[in-house]
Amino acid sequence: MIDFPNLKRIIEDNNSFLLTTHVNPDADAIGSEIAFYLILKELNKEVFIINHSSTPYNIEFLDVDKKIERFDEAKHRSLFDTVDVLVALDFNRSDRMVRMQNSFLNSHKLKICIDHHQDPEKFTDFLFAGTDYCATGQIIYDFIKTTEIVKLNFGTAYQIYAAIMTDTGSFRFERTTPEIHRIAAELLEYGVVPGDVFDKLYDQSKFSKIKLMGSALESMQLYGKQKQIGYMIIRRETFKNLGAVESDTENFVNFSLSVEGVRIGLLFIELKEGFKVSFRSKGTIPVNKLAAEFGGGGHINASGARIFNGKLDDYISIILTKAEEYLDK
Ligand code: 5GP
Ligand code: MN
Repeated sequence: MIDFPNLKRIIEDNNSFLLTTHVNPDADAIGSEIAFYLILKELNKEVFIINHSSTPYNIEFLDVDKKIERFDEAKHRSLFDTVDVLVALDFNRSDRMVRMQNSFLNSHKLKICIDHHQDPEKFTDFLFAGTDYCATGQIIYDFIKTTEIVKLNFGTAYQIYAAIMTDTGSFRFERTTPEIHRIAAELLEYGVVPGDVFDKLYDQSKFSKIKLMGSALESMQLYGKQKQIGYMIIRRETFKNLGAVESDTENFVNFSLSVEGVRIGLLFIELKEGFKVSFRSKGTIPVNKLAAEFGGGGHINASGARIFNGKLDDYISIILTKAEEYLDK
């Protein structure tokens, strides 16, 4: 049970807040930041939202007051020691802030983390977390309902709906419970239109993203004795040729898992520095443990890892071999 009264007390006892989220944010990351910001705004608090990454174009619509700034060390360094509270949303390992990690960790101000991932690192004073939550946005919902710190309204409902829609894979992943549908129903009563949120998030893709998806699908291979591992590779060069960006790859990995018989789906993405791997699984295969072997983490069926100083080609077969061991776990 999350100690919501304590979270409420921290908000009431302080005046200025710096919110942040993980690299390459999704709609749970941004929706949680903006929902939390809207609560603080209503309470007349001073709020800064500073992220390592710029907001992916398909999520920008959630930043209703254009509050989000991209981290610039020279410009923002002093803020970390002048605001009262630093708030980490939708991640639980400090390295997911990338360039912002040091500024965050070196600050002497009160730090809190609100999150729903497994295996938290202790890098904040307080952790408001539960792995039963399908999204950080659901924690914000629960916080509002439990403490009545503010009333839920269309603004917060919209952000929370986008957060939950994203992290449940549009209401299909495991944690899409009757309760989630009841929460969604309540959010709709505040005026949220599901088709509108879905359209903005997923049906206004840049042409380059669709072409990138084509290239990823083209690269798909099945691996292992019973071909139970599906994987795709996106090369740096392909991003350049198509004018596509990393955030365009959101959800692609699910195609690797959508092949008959496949139980682990992987997506390898070559980055400017190093590479990223997305891991997905069916059933009880703990890909968060598999990702952890490469410095990553996440949820049992959905995880990721970023390797900054390594060459993708040196790792592909190592990761595939390791993945095969997990088929029996
Ligand atoms: P995705 O593959 O969609 O980027 O991430 C899937 C899940 O794994 C997300 O819940 C995300 O938080 C987690 N994840 C992705 N990349 C990393 C990483 O580099 N480190 C950790 N600890 N978790 C990650
Ligand atoms: Mn999330």
